Amino acid sequence: MRERIIVAGAGIIGSVIVKELLAARPGAEIIAIDRDLAGSGATRRSAGLHFAAGRTDRTRAMAATSERYYQALAADDPRLPIYPVALDAVAFGAAAESARSRFVNAGPIETSPIRAKAARGQPQGASVWSVPACHYSDVGALTDFLVRDFRPAISMLEGVTIARIEEEEGVAAAVLSTGETVRADRLVLAPGPWVNAAAWRAMVAPLGVRVKKIVAFHLNAPVDEGDAAVLFPEEDAFLLPLQHRGHWLFSYTCLDWDVDPDAPPPGVTRQNLDEAQAVLRRYAPDLADRLRSGRVFCDAYSPSREPIVAKIGGSGRIIFAGAANGSGYRLAPAIAAEALSLLDD
Ligand SMILES: Cc1cc2nc3c(=O)[nH]c(=O)nc-3n(C[C@H](O)[C@H](O)[C@H](O)COP(=O)(O)OP(=O)(O)OC[C@H]3O[C@@H](n4cnc5c(N)ncnc54)[C@H](O)[C@@H]3O)c2cc1C
Repeated sequence: MRERIIVAGAGIIGSVIVKELLAARPGAEIIAIDRDLAGSGATRRSAGLHFAAGRTDRTRAMAATSERYYQALAADDPRLPIYPVALDAVAFGAAAESARSRFVNAGPIETSPIRAKAARGQPQGASVWSVPACHYSDVGALTDFLVRDFRPAISMLEGVTIARIEEEEGVAAAVLSTGETVRADRLVLAPGPWVNAAAWRAMVAPLGVRVKKIVAFHLNAPVDEGDAAVLFPEEDAFLLPLQHRGHWLFSYTCLDWDVDPDAPPPGVTRQNLDEAQAVLRRYAPDLADRLRSGRVFCDAYSPSREPIVAKIGGSGRIIFAGAANGSGYRLAPAIAAEALSLLDD
C-alpha cells in the first residue's frame, strides 16, 4: 500500500514540508489542504527578512540550515522572489557584544555609520556590525512558486477547511468542510496562527502556544538599489528596503497577545504607532514621524520561543510543525527538516 500523508495548512511551512516530502518519499501520496488559497495566511503578510541568528544553539543551527536551503533554491531558479540584501545590526553599549554573539556569522563591531541611507545619523555610541548572506523574500509569491511546482505531483485542496482532525485505529483522519473524511498514515499540521482552532485545539493545547499580533509599518522613503537593511537586535526590530515594492518597512515587537486570526485586529492602532515611534526615535529620529500605515496580522508563539516540531495526540501519527515566533519564514526549511525526521521516527 502506498503511504499517504496529509499536510494541513499550506503556508510557507506546510509548502516547504510538501516539497521536501516529495523529494524524500517519492512513493508517498501527499494531500495538502488549505482553507484558503495556499500562502494566504501569515505567509502573505510576512516581511520575509532572513538573517542567520538565534537565541539558542537550536535556533541558530535552524537559521543556518534555512539560509543554505534558500541560497540553493535561489541559485536553482533566479526567478524566485528571493532578494539578497546587505544588513547592519545596531546595538548600544554592553548589550552589543551579547547581541552579536547570537549571530551565526557577524563582522567585527565598528562604530562607522550605518550604510543604510534610511537610518543615517544614528545616535552617538551605537555599535554596528555587518551580517553576511541575508536576503528578504516576497514570501507569499515564493509560496506560489513552490505550490505551482509541486501541484501536479500531489492532491492540492484549496478553499477546503479541515473541520476536525481525529485519530482512528491505524490512521489519522481529517474531516473536511465538504463532508469528506480523508484518512492517511500520517498528518502534518502546519496551521500558522490558527494553532488554537477548534479543529485541533484539544491536541495542541498541551503545547501552550499563544498568538500575538505582528505589525510591520510601511515607510514612504525612497529605496535605492544597494540600500542596506538595519536590524536592532535589542528591540527585535528592523528597517528593510523593499526594492520590489518601492518602500521601506519598519517591523517592531508589538505586544498584543491572544489575538484571533479569524477576527484580526483592525489594522494599525494609535498605540502601535506610539510604540513603534518610540523605538525608531532611539535609532533614526527623522523617520519616526513618517510611520503611518503598514501590514498587520499575527503569528503563533511557543513558551520557549523556539519553534515546535512534535508529535501530538496519542497515536504518534500526527505531527505539529510551527509556532515559529514571528520567524516562520527564516526557519521554515529547518522546521520542515525536523518534521521529516519525526516522520521517519
Ligand atoms: C506582518 C508580519 C511580518 C513578518 N515578518 C517576518 C520576517 O521578516 N521574517 C520571518 O522569518 N517571519 C516573519 N513573519 C512570520 C512569518 O510570516 C510566519 O511565521 C510564517 O508565515 C508562518 O507560516 P505558516 O505556514 O506556519 O503559517 P500560515 O502562512 O498562516 O499558514 C497556515 C495555513 O493554514 C491554513 N489553515 C488554517 N486553519 C485551517 C483549517 N482549519 N483547514 C485548512 N487550512 C487551515 C491557513 O489558511 C494558512 O494558509 C512575519 C509575520 C507577519 C504577520
